[in-house]
Amino acid sequence: MMSEILLEVEDLRVYYEIREGFVRAVDGVSFKLYKAESMAIVGESGSGKTTLALAIPRLIDPPGKIVGGRILFKGRDILSMNERELTEIRGREISFIFQDPASALNPVFNIGFQVEEKYTAHGIDELKAYRESLKLLKSVGIADIKRRYRSYPHQLSGGMKQRVVIAIAMALNPSLIIADEPTSGLDVTIQAQILDLLRDLSEKHRSSILLITHDIGVAAELVDKIGVMYAGKMLEIGSLDKILNEPLHPYTRALMNCVPRMHKSMQKLTSIRGMVPSLLHPPEGCRFHPRCDYARDICKSIEPEMIKVDEDHYVACHLYRR
Ligand code: SF4
Repeated sequence: MMSEILLEVEDLRVYYEIREGFVRAVDGVSFKLYKAESMAIVGESGSGKTTLALAIPRLIDPPGKIVGGRILFKGRDILSMNERELTEIRGREISFIFQDPASALNPVFNIGFQVEEKYTAHGIDELKAYRESLKLLKSVGIADIKRRYRSYPHQLSGGMKQRVVIAIAMALNPSLIIADEPTSGLDVTIQAQILDLLRDLSEKHRSSILLITHDIGVAAELVDKIGVMYAGKMLEIGSLDKILNEPLHPYTRALMNCVPRMHKSMQKLTSIRGMVPSLLHPPEGCRFHPRCDYARDICKSIEPEMIKVDEDHYVACHLYRR
């Protein structure tokens, strides 16, 4: 049963202060993630999705700043935690998988040591850390583990490196794994294997996944629900089925038209006209209105609120105002 809320983000605002003013990368985003649920945040580059992911464990570096909202993790307010509490939660409870496994791994240490370190940093003795690391590396599909254990990152392929990064992320059984474009640098076959691995491990350990991706096709392989972000705003949230089969927001529909579908091989693929707007001076009203074929006068002046249209389906668009 997915009834217990693991993560609740309420009206989150993250701005970057630059000489010209504030870049509103995340501007009033709210959503909930339940225990053992997996959710994708989908959007074009520049939509604010990576900033949102980094803000959850408070990893925003200056000139970025969380300027408003709340982030509740297991009911605890992350924004009011001290450094010690944050360090504990980041390692043990919330893990990150970044896009580029090469930069996530330290080239001067062997992979076994890098997994062990996750345990020893949290007070687990070296022998237990070694045994757990061995098990974990086996479980992510590192073959010939006794020999590979002392390999260095440069001796592994891109797919193998990402498996090691996943092993490090899974150590200590975190409740939440944030995966930011975890398969983008990999070829299609390896991409599918990594998504399978993430799904299997999260199911086995009952971890929730927050997947950050520009690719709805990748999201469809892994998650239960999707949040669609655009220009710092969340525009639609729905179950995977609703978003794939009954997308409501004009932006979500346009995104879907960019995804090739096997069963509609004759479908004409389109791109979304125009560009993601500058977040320094975003458009008034609905931020999508300069690119929207359905824009009306109200769209240019009043920002649409997120409304519930169905069980587990929310949309922020004036077309659905009652
Ligand atoms: Fe288009 Fe208006 Fe809906 Fe925005 S609010 S997506 S401009 S119809």
